[in-house]
Amino acid sequence: MSSSVALRLPSIDGLLRHPACAPLAARYGRDSLLTGLRQLLDELRPSVLSGQVSAIEIGAEVLAGRVGERLAQQQRSQVRRVFNLTGTVLHTNLGRALLPEEAVEAMQMAARYPLNLEFDLATGKRGDRDDLIEDLIRELTGAEAVTVVNNNAAAVLLTLNSLGARKEGIISRGELIEIGGAFRIPDIMARAGVRLHEVGTTNRTHARDYQAAIGPRSGLIMRVHASNYSIEGFTARVPTAELAELAHTHGLPLLEDLGSGSLLDLTRWGLPAEPTVRQALLDGADIVTFSGDKLLGGPQAGLIVGRKELIAKIKKNPLKRALRVDKLTLAALEAVLGLYRDPDRLAERLPSLRLLTRPQAEIHAQAVRLQPLLADVLGEVWQVSAVKALGMIGSGSQPVARLPSAALCCRPQVSKRWRGRYLLNLEAALRGLPIPVLGRIDDDALWLDLRQLDDEPVWLAQLAHLQVDA
Ligand SMILES: *Cc1c(COP(=O)(O)O)cnc(C)c1O
Repeated sequence: MSSSVALRLPSIDGLLRHPACAPLAARYGRDSLLTGLRQLLDELRPSVLSGQVSAIEIGAEVLAGRVGERLAQQQRSQVRRVFNLTGTVLHTNLGRALLPEEAVEAMQMAARYPLNLEFDLATGKRGDRDDLIEDLIRELTGAEAVTVVNNNAAAVLLTLNSLGARKEGIISRGELIEIGGAFRIPDIMARAGVRLHEVGTTNRTHARDYQAAIGPRSGLIMRVHASNYSIEGFTARVPTAELAELAHTHGLPLLEDLGSGSLLDLTRWGLPAEPTVRQALLDGADIVTFSGDKLLGGPQAGLIVGRKELIAKIKKNPLKRALRVDKLTLAALEAVLGLYRDPDRLAERLPSLRLLTRPQAEIHAQAVRLQPLLADVLGEVWQVSAVKALGMIGSGSQPVARLPSAALCCRPQVSKRWRGRYLLNLEAALRGLPIPVLGRIDDDALWLDLRQLDDEPVWLAQLAHLQVDA
């Protein structure tokens, strides 16, 4: 009997020939359609056998409809654009820096055509991909030599392994940091084959602490910029220049991981001071590492700059081949660095700097303008107000500093008991929009920080789709 029920499921062949399926084959390809139909029938078979679903419910049209939905869903890209209204500009989970048009064009060129990635056009001989950006980075940082890898975590790993394997790496206890994504300095050191020799205390480390640690097994001294937290109060830290002198007296290299690092003094744009790569090198660091997609405002990359003979050693490490950057990144990085040659126009041309320096008054005016429109869409349950707010740079840069910004603040006008649910529902509805809108929940309200809303018409147009569950 169960077999007679099973017979009522349409056959694959029958379905493929059915007029409802023909357009699907044309659109998604016969193989995808076949796979989709097989999966669907396999899923339905148990409920048909048990009599839970009747033959009518699973007619050919219904199946074609379901398979069509599924194929459409599968075809939709999983990598999706979003609106970042979280208030954090360089948001690691949302892709960090946005690239300037110049970089986008360079990436398109690199994607479409063959290029001189490792080919020296002057000599006709084999080239080195680092050479393409070496002069530019030297000019912008004052470094003798340069090499570029996949990200700054890779830069730190490669540098440590190249210069300190089987030796001791001396580092202050106050700098044994963890940054997001399980990147911990002690673990990276271990993986790099460097024996950790920690000195000083969490809040205070003196030159004599480093001095006492130096011995025959020492390979390098490392300094890590405490990017994502701050130690305040009774603290002591040896200035880089003094530490460099100590290192050099003992023939050791000083590595400085700046994390974000910056090529220019950001205070000229009213942003919090961040150590510059040039200054770290001037102070005597032998190698400096930093990210391409944090304050630099470029693609994901790790830049290693410093003394020529040390860079040469790093480039000879076989790990370099495993960590190298691809042509798209290199093309984008060159374009971004090119903009730094004209600092006067940088804030107009580099999206991350433009967003970081957007004046609060302008963002607030935007919030005032949009407030009635959002209030109208959300209805009476929600009190929407245009308010001043504080944002963050993100990516560990200046964790304590706040960017004066403005937001649309949405408060549900319901009893305290229901507020949490309303907020989560609104958050989910915003996430469900064609271009998901991401804000943040804080203090019984949902905040949409408008610093990064520069595509206002598109944002507004899709608000009509907003469906908030009560
Ligand atoms: C961010 C950061 C890193 C890692 O850089 P990625 O480019 O994210 O790999 C390493 N060290 C410090 C101090 C950082 O702030």
